Amino acid sequence: MHDYRMLIDGAWVAGENGHFEVINPASGRAFAQCPAGSLEQVDQAVHAAQVAFRQWRLSSHATRCTALQRIADDIEAEAEALATLVVQEQGKPFALAMSEIMGGAAWTRYSAESEIPVRLVEDTPTQRIELHHKPLGVVASITPWNWPFMIAVWHIMPALRSGNCVVSKPSSLTPLSTLKLVEIIARHVPRGVINIVTGERGFGGAIASHPGIRKIVFTGSTATGQSVMRAAAGNLKRLTLELGGNDAGIVLPGTPVEQVAEAIFQAAFLNMGQTCAALKRLYIHESQYQAFSQALVELAGRQVIGDGLEADVTFGPVQNAEQLALVENLVADAQAQGGRVLCGGARLDREGFFYPPTLVADVTDGQRLVDEEQFGPVLPLIAYRDVEDVLARANASDMGLGGSVWGADAGEAQALAQRLESGVAWVNCHAQIQPNTPFGGCKLSGFGVEFGLEGLLEFTTQQLLYVRKQEGQ
Ligand code: NAD
Repeated sequence: MHDYRMLIDGAWVAGENGHFEVINPASGRAFAQCPAGSLEQVDQAVHAAQVAFRQWRLSSHATRCTALQRIADDIEAEAEALATLVVQEQGKPFALAMSEIMGGAAWTRYSAESEIPVRLVEDTPTQRIELHHKPLGVVASITPWNWPFMIAVWHIMPALRSGNCVVSKPSSLTPLSTLKLVEIIARHVPRGVINIVTGERGFGGAIASHPGIRKIVFTGSTATGQSVMRAAAGNLKRLTLELGGNDAGIVLPGTPVEQVAEAIFQAAFLNMGQTCAALKRLYIHESQYQAFSQALVELAGRQVIGDGLEADVTFGPVQNAEQLALVENLVADAQAQGGRVLCGGARLDREGFFYPPTLVADVTDGQRLVDEEQFGPVLPLIAYRDVEDVLARANASDMGLGGSVWGADAGEAQALAQRLESGVAWVNCHAQIQPNTPFGGCKLSGFGVEFGLEGLLEFTTQQLLYVRKQEGQ
């Protein structure tokens, strides 16, 4: 069984608390061992990053840009091995894992090419005022288990590009592809600029409260995000909190079923539904409820379920047993309240954490499957009659990550989408993201954004430079 190491101050070290096992969700069995670090090792990693920051903060934009381009080159060169690791630890089909890796390379190149602007606020005969952006210091990245490689890239690359040093803490369920990413990064940056610590318990909390860390970029559940925010108050850490979502999709009357059903299905079941901004509640006008339900059931029936490393598999397992149990509970609760399972609805009788794509009809707001984030392969189908009413129901959620409106008339759909209370509003698509467009939620889905210039600047603190001119200057 492959035994991994953590990177602290340029050295690959074993965990002082031994190791823990990483489970392949397609078999339910351990396939690798990951170091269980100690809290002293967290301190060492933070200290190493603090020391490295003294020089890295002074590095030129060209130096950082070149380093990130080389990292992207290596990610691309090693994409197949990285994707295989993602499948083994996370469960998604290989083609999707490849898109995660290549997306990681593309996001890295975007960070490399980003410019950190200096804004000339005023330049008069008596004074010159400029707005600069400076790195913060040590940035901690805490990542979840659904897109482990891609989200680590989203956190780490803009942090490095803007001159910070990083301590990465991946989910203990999926630490391996991040360890490999850090190995690649470490080839191209000085010692201590990137560090990674892995462990099962107490690590996230220790990082969130650590006085040597200036910013935390956190992606995970709302409950954990709230805990991070509380713990971060001690030294007023900057925070980017990308938390849970319960995105609504609203299908307007007259929407051409055959044109959009596939896109809706993919938006809901992307990564077996384990995507923050997946479509998690589908509101269909009653005039088309039957037609849409049938089309989605047919698409679910076409999925090839299995180990993501097997050829032709399009649908992998749920990542872990706990998440699978949550999905089972939500479906059972919906059924107890009259919900009708149109397809799927029970875990597969085989090893691993397999649950087929599941559609549940005749459910409504106020039921757990609609109100809570399922984060798994089940989609509630909710009938509505009145457009104003459905907008109110979509907005009644505490979450506000994304939302979408689907319709034949793009103008009408856009007008409604703009009234969604969400960080992103999509029209005739859902969960579309790209490196140059700021992404983030509102309400209990968090605050702060990633991507684009706005995302990059979140890794900086501004400094206003105010120069009083002497005569003749
Ligand atoms: P989680 O909150 O359980 O864990 C996320 C990370 O936090 C892990 O690394 C975990 O070890 C760490 N952690 C646990 N306790 C901690 C603590 N007290 N302090 C600091 N860190 C701690 O989330 P998860 O189950 O890994 O991921 C699923 C959730 O993430 C879903 O709610 C999903 O919507 C959300 N998510 C959001 C986005 C987004 O961009 N908004 C993206 C992906 C996932």
